[in-house]
Amino acid sequence: MKRRKLGRTGLEVSELGFGASPLGAVYGPFAQRDGIEAVHKALDLGIDFFDVAPFYGATAAETVLGKALHGIERSSYVLATKVGRYGEHDFDFSAARVARSVRESLTRLGTDHLDLIQCHDIEFGDLDQIAGETLPALRGLQDAGLVRCVGITGYPLPALAYVADRAEVDTIMSYCQYTLQDRRLTPWLRRFAAQGIGVINAAPLAMGALTPQGPPPWHPARAAVLKHCAAAARLCAARGGDLARLALQFALATGDSASTVVGASHPSDVSRNVRWVEEPLDEQLLREVELLLAPIRDVGWVSGRPEN
Ligand code: NAD
Repeated sequence: MKRRKLGRTGLEVSELGFGASPLGAVYGPFAQRDGIEAVHKALDLGIDFFDVAPFYGATAAETVLGKALHGIERSSYVLATKVGRYGEHDFDFSAARVARSVRESLTRLGTDHLDLIQCHDIEFGDLDQIAGETLPALRGLQDAGLVRCVGITGYPLPALAYVADRAEVDTIMSYCQYTLQDRRLTPWLRRFAAQGIGVINAAPLAMGALTPQGPPPWHPARAAVLKHCAAAARLCAARGGDLARLALQFALATGDSASTVVGASHPSDVSRNVRWVEEPLDEQLLREVELLLAPIRDVGWVSGRPEN
């Protein structure tokens, strides 16, 4: 597994990261034993970057990840979680709440420090509060040794840039915007990289839309987008391929982010994903799928407060 520098943080992360939202049953029920095995499989295969959040499964994902990481040498993995989002409509980016949140996450994750703490889905907050209050509070926790680096996550790229222009951020996690269907991250990635920021590309499978089994019922994309993705899955199957394989290979082979974070709650998904990343991209199938997805290329959805 290749490793890449995470901006100027001094950290290196595996180019394929483990997304732990499925450990909060965000994608449906799973056996906890499988989820824990998925984490161990990831570590065995060289994945050393784990991303979670208190929001995923109302803290359940952090608890399962904490169990899985129990007894594993702490310096052998890079652990990222988030603050500020606690429910579908429950956001609190105040200094007092995020400080409490970090301590709660440390307990659930069974560690004395986080490698990366991220403000979660900033577009739902007041961006000036995040730049002026939340991030300085997290820097205070960095000075106290509780966190090593500080970042932001969210969907609208201009909102991420707005905050990054007003406060020092070490990392930016964008999601669903460097995929077979959506490439809007590309120009922003260059800009963020020029600022020394480590960019993390989350959800290369477009939160399940770019898989044979399709997206979960809560997926926010328009029906036309999901319909085209389903057609792409059928096309890949007809060619003896797999849309998830193509989507993952595309993100890794052509993307420039420090890590591509894919969600999993079963060890077989982790094994497949690692194997796929090492195999060559099917350029012919890629061209066919790109053609099919062209009418809905870069079509996303609205996320967050209207002013953001
Ligand atoms: P994803 O695009 O990684 O897709 C995950 C879905 O694909 C899950 O249902 C998983 O079971 C399935 N899957 C994984 N491997 C597969 C395979 N080989 N074949 C078929 N299906 C497979 O979406 P995601 O999990 O939401 O995103 C990855 C991670 O990025 C999250 O877990 C989270 O850690 C992070 N993330 C953060 C934000 C944010 O901060 N706002 C948003 C989205 C994702």
